[in-house]
Amino acid sequence: MRVVLATHNAHKAAEFQRMLAVGVPGIEVVTYDGPSPVEDGVTFAENALIKARTAAAHTGLPALADDSGICVDVLGGAPGIFSARWDGGRGDDRARVQLLLDQLADVPEAQRGAHFSCTIALVAGGVETTVEGLWPGALARETRGANGFGYDPVFLPAGEGGASAAEISPERKNAVSHRARAFAAITPLLAALPR
Ligand code: IMP
Repeated sequence: MRVVLATHNAHKAAEFQRMLAVGVPGIEVVTYDGPSPVEDGVTFAENALIKARTAAAHTGLPALADDSGICVDVLGGAPGIFSARWDGGRGDDRARVQLLLDQLADVPEAQRGAHFSCTIALVAGGVETTVEGLWPGALARETRGANGFGYDPVFLPAGEGGASAAEISPERKNAVSHRARAFAAITPLLAALPR
């Protein structure tokens, strides 16, 4: 069975490829490289569906897309769906991470709760499904670690002994992350698709 994955993010594509190969034996994943739709939804689910619908329409294949971000409690869940554009699109991952650290500079440990959120959308045979995965933790005070991408160096996942998401191994991250949890929920639906 072939499935198209709607992402231009090479890091995310690599994480997905690894998880899909394990979770759905025999699946062939191709990456959608057509025009990107405008992500003008206001929830993770809306944006994931926009991307999956576009990939399904252009390829005729069952399409998967995810939308994800970091949600900080004291910011009311922001950056959330704006995680990739939190600096107004002016800088890079490093600039966005630094902005978030500066915004929380005076916030004490007990109030630094945060989580990563990932919604995966599956559009197949005219049926649209979304599932959500959360990875609870806290925002660090400084960057640590060289693995992962994006906000990983400032996210301290619960239950990892104070290590940042960029300090744990890629294998560990792929087993427990928001994306892994969303993926675990979508796997049975993928496995049930007609071959
Ligand atoms: P998306 O590509 O529209 O889903 O945007 C995702 C944004 O959230 C990017 O800016 C990423 O930096 C951030 N993000 C999502 N998942 C992760 C993760 O696993 N680690 C670090 N940052 C992430």
